[in-house]
Amino acid sequence: MRVVVLGLGYVGTTLMVGVEKIKRGELDYCGIPLGNNLKYKVEDIEFVSAYDVDLRKVGKSVYEVSLMYHNSVPDSLKEIVVHEGVHLNSLKGLPLRVRGLDYRMSLRECVERLIEEWSENSPEVFINLCTTEKAEPFNNIEKLREAIDNDEKERVTATQLYAYAAIEYAKYNNPVVFINGIPTPIANDLAFVKLGKEVGVTFFGDDGATGATPLITDLLEHLVERRREVLSIAQFNIGGNMDFLSLTLKERNKAKERTKSKVVKDVLGYNAPHFIKPTGYLEPLGDKKFVAMHIMYKSFNNAIDEVIINMRVNDSPAFAGLLVDLIRLGRIALDRRYFGTIYEVNAFYMKSPGPPGSKVISKVLAFYLLLNWLGDSLHVSESISPAFSNLTLISNIYDSRRESL
Ligand code: NAD
Repeated sequence: MRVVVLGLGYVGTTLMVGVEKIKRGELDYCGIPLGNNLKYKVEDIEFVSAYDVDLRKVGKSVYEVSLMYHNSVPDSLKEIVVHEGVHLNSLKGLPLRVRGLDYRMSLRECVERLIEEWSENSPEVFINLCTTEKAEPFNNIEKLREAIDNDEKERVTATQLYAYAAIEYAKYNNPVVFINGIPTPIANDLAFVKLGKEVGVTFFGDDGATGATPLITDLLEHLVERRREVLSIAQFNIGGNMDFLSLTLKERNKAKERTKSKVVKDVLGYNAPHFIKPTGYLEPLGDKKFVAMHIMYKSFNNAIDEVIINMRVNDSPAFAGLLVDLIRLGRIALDRRYFGTIYEVNAFYMKSPGPPGSKVISKVLAFYLLLNWLGDSLHVSESISPAFSNLTLISNIYDSRRESL
């Protein structure tokens, strides 16, 4: 599986460094939900290039950029070069010096340039890990094409342009998977999903579900199943990485807030009063964010209970582990020729699962749904934990449960 990483920051470098260490036998599969139990192995992942717009990164090797974040970096990353991407206001307002193909080319020309570069090493998987943007969906193929043809650089975001370029690339080359790790609606934009179906692109998205969000969906499921009434939810997130710094800008934070808040109504079935959003930047916390959660609910005989949770979570490894699965699931989707988007995959891995109109469900339920979708693409080896050995059993239970609902 040949992979291109778009946006080489904390998550992107953690993914690449981690996978290369696994290949060298220096790391196990901890933090990768499906471990090495898929038809395609972690060791089959091959990174072919990366893209960024930060002047400190463009033109360097992934090895050099990774050293900005990690103490030990495998030599194999010396061969991979960071190319210049499209900027399209991605880092506007942040204290960074940037460059981008769009500074000297039209959007159409940027698409052509990207296709030309990608054609050199025939990638099958693109992972979008750019800085969170302010974005609106197109939901209409003609409008999307018009915006690109009319060079609307204020309307089209970098993520939308990369996703569009992946579509054009797939038209003339091989089918591809585009994993959208950020809140910009792509798997939730009808224009991209429809075009993907037509030309052979599978979009996974939107916005990786890591940290507190998966935990809160499962806690809410727990309360729903016991018919408790949730009265309020407060969830704070404070971190010291670049992602948190960028989210101090209001419009970007709105995009995150939307994907995080969707959880409440979808899982509970009603909109309990809530405050869920990234709340601040505090540099010394680094990548290990501080999360606090408070859920107040009514129980039998009007008793009022509360759940209070504090966590310190290493943000980027949490997401990078999920991406190791998504790359391989993408390959499986391509084998099955499932284009457009796949809810069964998105529901487990994403905060805002596409296609448009899809509900967020608890991650526990979503995991069974995923296993069911995987079927015999799941290769359970004998050396794994008892829970994994029971996957087939769990999957059967899920089937019978679904039939009885
Ligand atoms: P980061 O700021 O460390 O990295 C983002 C990288 O993208 C930077 O290197 C930046 O220069 C680059 N970039 C920005 N605009 C670009 C463009 N137009 N083209 C190419 N590169 C561009 O952030 P991160 O912690 O690596 O997170 C990456 C993305 O993943 C963020 O949008 C974040 O919201 C999302 N995400 C992260 C997590 C997590 O860390 N657990 C979870 C869900 C989603």
